[in-house]
Amino acid sequence: MSTHPPAPQLWLNLSTLLRSCDAATYSRGLDLYRNQHVMELRIEPLGDRWLLTGQVQGSQRQPYALSIEVKRGPAGQVLEWDSDCTCPVGYQCKHGVALMIKAAYKGAQLIAGHEPEDATHQKMTLTQVSDQIRMLEERAREIALQEAQAQVQRWLKELERSNLARTATHAQHPGPTQRNEQFLYLLDILGANGPNPLLTLEVTLSYPKVAGGWSKPKPVRFFPERGQPVYDLASATDHDLLQLIRAMPSSASGYYYSYNLKSKVTLEGRYGVEALQKAASTGRLFVTETRGTLSKPVQWGAQRTITWSWQQIHPSEPDSDLWTLHARLTEGDGQLCLNNPPLYLDKTRGLCGLLDTNGLSMGQLAALLKAPRMQAQALQSLQRELSLQLGNLPLPPVVEQVPTVSGLAPRVCLRLKPATPQNAGLHSPIEAHVSFA
Ligand SMILES: [Zn+2]
Repeated sequence: MSTHPPAPQLWLNLSTLLRSCDAATYSRGLDLYRNQHVMELRIEPLGDRWLLTGQVQGSQRQPYALSIEVKRGPAGQVLEWDSDCTCPVGYQCKHGVALMIKAAYKGAQLIAGHEPEDATHQKMTLTQVSDQIRMLEERAREIALQEAQAQVQRWLKELERSNLARTATHAQHPGPTQRNEQFLYLLDILGANGPNPLLTLEVTLSYPKVAGGWSKPKPVRFFPERGQPVYDLASATDHDLLQLIRAMPSSASGYYYSYNLKSKVTLEGRYGVEALQKAASTGRLFVTETRGTLSKPVQWGAQRTITWSWQQIHPSEPDSDLWTLHARLTEGDGQLCLNNPPLYLDKTRGLCGLLDTNGLSMGQLAALLKAPRMQAQALQSLQRELSLQLGNLPLPPVVEQVPTVSGLAPRVCLRLKPATPQNAGLHSPIEAHVSFA
C-alpha cells in the first residue's frame, strides 16, 4: 500500500472490506487495482445505498462489466456489498474487490454533491489512515506467508510420494501394510477357437490383499501418467512396459476406447515380445479365468516348437473318412497364437513364450492352420499336389507314402551309337542317349 500516497480520507474503509471477503480474493483484487486494471468507475446513489458500475480488465480480451450495491456506514465502513460481474465467478469476485478499492480512493471525488441525506461525513484523521495502511500491510504479509507455506507443503507432499515410490521399488517382499494400488497385467487370447488366435495384454489396477493374492483387477479409466500415485509408485519395469504398450496396436474396437486409452493391446513385433517378457518379470502377469479369478502368475518360458499331425475326425464312427491337419506344441500343452512373431500361452503350467515355426513364414503358418476337414478320397486323388505343397510336413496317413531312398548317389549313363540311316541326314551321324541308374 505504501506505493499509493494515502488519501486524506478513504470513501470506503478497506479493513471492513477485507473482513467481508476472503483474504485471497482481496489480495488478487488489490493486485488488479494496483496494476491499473480498473478501466471505469461510476458511482450513483441508490436509496440508502450506492450503486457502483464499471469495467475491470481480466484474463479475457474484453473487460468484465460490474455492478455493485454498497451500504456504507457513516465512517465509510462497508456494511454490505453485493457485486455482479460478467466473469465466470460472477459474484463477490476479485474484480468486484478491485472496483471497491478504486471506489475507496476515488469515491469522495466522484460523488461530490451526491452524498445521501443521512450520511454523516466523518473525516479520517491522518493517524487513522496510517493505522489502516499498517494493518493492510500486515495482512498482505500474512497472505504472502500463507502462500509460501502452501508452496513448501505442495513440494513436501510430492517428495513424500517419491520417497514412497523408492521404498516400493526396493522392497523385495512388500509387507502386508503396503497396500498401494499397483499395475496388474492380464493375458487373453482373442478368437481363441477361431483360425486367427491372438495373444493380448491388458494393463489393469489391483492391490495386494492382506491374506495374500490380489484384489479383483479394475480396468484403467485413463492411461497411466506421471502425477498419478499408482504411476509414480510403479517400478522402472512398469514404466518401460507402459511405454511399450503405448506403441502397440489396440485390440479394442475404435469407438469404444478413446485413442488415448489403449489399455488392451495385441502383442506385435519385437516390442510386443519385450513387453510380454517384462510383464512376466513383474510377477504380476496373469490369465483371467472364468468368473474373474486369477490363476498363478505367468512366467516367461523356453521357446517351443510346433508339431504337425493328421487327425481323423470322429474316428469312432466306422464310415468317417474326414481328416484335418492339426498343430500342437511339442513340449507340453498350450495355445498357439498367431501374433507376429508367433507366441504361445500355456495356462496349465503358467508359461508364455516364443514359438519356433521351423522356418515357416507367418503366411504359411496362417494358411496351414486354416486346414479344413478333408475327405480321404479327395486327399488320395490330390496326392501329388499335397506332397508338393506340404514340403517337410507329414502327408495324411490315407495317402500312400512315397518311399524315401537315401544314401545312394544317382549314376549317369551315356550311350553312343551310330545314327539310323533315316536320321543321319538330318543330324549328326552319331546318336547320344542319357539315362540315370
Ligand atoms: Zn469478476
